[in-house]
Order: sequence, then structure tokens, then C-alpha cells
Amino acid sequence: MNGITLLTVDIVTIAFARAIMQMMLGGLLLYMGIRQFNQGAARWWALGFFVNGLSLFAFSFDVPEAWSIVRNTFNHLSMGVASVFFLMGFWRFGQQPINSWLLIVLMAFPLTSIIAWELLWPNARFRVLCTASGQVLYFIALQQILAQPFRIEYARIYRRLRYVVVVYIIIFVWAYASIAQLLPTTAVTSLNYHRSIFSIASLLFMLTLAVGCLALKFTSLAIRNADLAMHDWLTGLLNRRGFFHEIESNQQVKGGDRKITALLAIDIDRFKKINDAQGHAAGDQVLQYVSERLKLYDSENRIIARMGGEEFLITLFDTSQEDAIKLAEELRQQFAQNRVALSNQQSVRLTISIGVHEVSQQEHIEQSLAHADEALYAAKRQGRNRVILSKTEQKD
Ligand code: GH3
Ligand code: MG
Ligand code: MG
Repeated sequence: MNGITLLTVDIVTIAFARAIMQMMLGGLLLYMGIRQFNQGAARWWALGFFVNGLSLFAFSFDVPEAWSIVRNTFNHLSMGVASVFFLMGFWRFGQQPINSWLLIVLMAFPLTSIIAWELLWPNARFRVLCTASGQVLYFIALQQILAQPFRIEYARIYRRLRYVVVVYIIIFVWAYASIAQLLPTTAVTSLNYHRSIFSIASLLFMLTLAVGCLALKFTSLAIRNADLAMHDWLTGLLNRRGFFHEIESNQQVKGGDRKITALLAIDIDRFKKINDAQGHAAGDQVLQYVSERLKLYDSENRIIARMGGEEFLITLFDTSQEDAIKLAEELRQQFAQNRVALSNQQSVRLTISIGVHEVSQQEHIEQSLAHADEALYAAKRQGRNRVILSKTEQKD
């Protein structure tokens, strides 16, 4: 002993405790994933924790010498398999393409370890080093995946996980270098000391990874609930709440450099008649048809929303008044020219009225909406199937 007693722990007991902890974490992830969307990711992560936990169980029991080859094989392969599962989880979660080559390479390392350094030319040092190199590759791949959060809401969790992975790579390399006697002698302390630190670091790493995965699951659940609350279930368009949320985040995130220049308030003409004549289900189909048509006009500088019943709103950013009127007129004609086929073999003709309001920058959004509505009602009064510019903009 060289006098360092800090963290001298029984490594096998820690391994056993880690095994149980990881099984529980895997179970928790699985439970979290069961009744929710995005189950794939949670299942892969859970499998990663299970397999890793199993290999730790195997490590915690003494086996007869004759069985050590089985245990070594299981140990090395399970490390590879667990890494594959974790990467699969993160790819699934991020809806990123799966890199099969990387998975093959990750499995090739432990396989080579076993075939070359256990069976053909037994060499415990090379065997451990070979599998450890595969693990380093896995950590680097994880680091890469975490560098690309696919939604802003995940960025903070991804960033923190990245820090943890970097710290763990350093400890991992240091520990394996010392186990394989690759460290300069000045850097070597007691082997047990390295192992204890490594065991505890691994425990903390897996715990952090599990907390990170759970945090991602909770965040994705929160995002989905928010999305559901902001979208209309019938048409998939933003609803009124979603519209106001978009307007607000546009002001916050984009710093107002995207300016609302026009609103198009759209209302289906005599929609009640369609409902009365064809039934409510047919009315729903017409609403879906109109929404699908409107979605074709969606773009970076437009927000399309279903504001209520059969009323829609197109918000235009950085668009001239001329283009706004042109768009409204194009929409009006499109609808007037086409019949809507219904599932009951019937078809209906429909027209829309549109109120166009050019937004002045001092205006509050509520005021702009009211102006667009006034123009829409004017269009209705004047006989429907027409585009009317709001009064404030009419130059008589
Ligand atoms: P106008 O030309 O003046 O706009 O006449 P309208 O009949 O289109 O307008 P009104 O506001 O009188 O009627 C709108 C109807 O839309 C009444 C309501 O039952 C129906 N409606 C609202 N939401 C839905 C829905 O989700 N599905 C169906 N099928 N009908 C709906
Ligand atoms: Mg109507
Ligand atoms: Mg209406």
C-alpha cells in the first residue's frame, strides 16, 4: 500500500450493487416507455442497462477456472452489445439514421478480443485493451450524436450528457491504461485505487446516463402534450392557442426581425348548409380538405391556423400587400374551381371569403385580428366568395 486509503472499496460488491441498480434503471425506462409514443428509444436504452447489468452480475460471482472463458466471452460481448443498444436508443430518440457500419465495428472489437486474445493467442492484456478501444469508439460516437439535438428543448440535456461523457472518457482511458500497465510509472498508484475510482466513476456515469435518458423521455412527453394542446386534432393545423404561441415565440426567439405584414382571415361560405345537407361527418371532411389545401401554401414566412369552426387564418411575414392580396385571390379561385369529393360518393362545391389586413407595426396582434375579421364580414355582406381589404387600408 502506498498510503492512499481514500476510496478503497470492495470492487466486486460495487459491481454487484451496480448490477442491481442498472436492472432497476432499465426497468424504470421500460416502464416509462410502455404507454407512450417514442417507445423505441426507451426500449433500446432499457436493453442497454439490462445487458450491462447482466455482465456486472457475471463479474460479481466467482466461477471455476474452466468457466472463465465463458465468463470472459460474455463480459466482452455484453459490453459491445450494450453500446450498440445505447446508440440505437439515441438514434431512435433523435430520429437519426442508424449507422450500421459503426454497430458492426463496435461488435468487431469484443469479438476480436475473444477470438484472437482469448482463444487463439491468449493474452489478457491485449484482450482487455482491444475491447476497451471499442468502448472508447462508442463514447466518441455517443459524443457525436449528443452534439446534434434535433429540438431546441433537448439541447440542455444533450449538452450536460456530453460533458459527462467527456469526463468519463478521460477516466476510462486512464483506468484501462493503468490496468494494461501503459501509464508512466510516475502516474501509477495502487492498482486497486485505480479500480476503485473507475468502479465509482462507472456507477456515477451509468446513473447520470439513466437520469439523462429519463429526462429526455419526460421532456419529449412535455413537448408532445404542448404540441397536442396547440394543434387541432381534426386538421392537424395550429389551433387558436397554437397561433398565439407561435406569434409570441416569433417575437422572443427571432427578436422580431421577422415582421408580420399581413393577415388573411378565411371563412368557408355557407358551411352550415353543407353540414345540414350532408351531415356533420361530411362537414368534417370538407374542413380536412380545406386544411390540406391550405397546408400546401405553408412556408417559412407563413403561419397557418384553424382559429375556430370553419375559420382559418394565414399570417404572412415580410410580404408585400400586393403579394398578400394575390395569395388571397389565388386561394379564393382555387376553392371556387374545385368540387370536394366526399366519402359518401357525393361532392360539394364550396367557396371561401377572405378578409385581408395589412398590419402596421404599432398594432397589437389582437387589433390586427379584429381588422382582418371586419374585412371578412364585409366580404360576407357583399355576397361572399370574394377578397376584401380591411378598411384601414382601403384607399378610396
Ligand atoms: P357564412 O357564409 O356566413 O360563414 O355561413 P356559415 O354557415 O359558414 O357560418 P356559420 O357561422 O353560421 O356556421 C358555421 C358552422 O360550422 C356551424 C357549426 O355547426 C359548423 N362547425 C363548426 N365547427 C365544426 C366542425 O368541427 N365540424 C363540422 N362538421 N362543423 C363544424
Ligand atoms: Mg362560414
Ligand atoms: Mg364562421
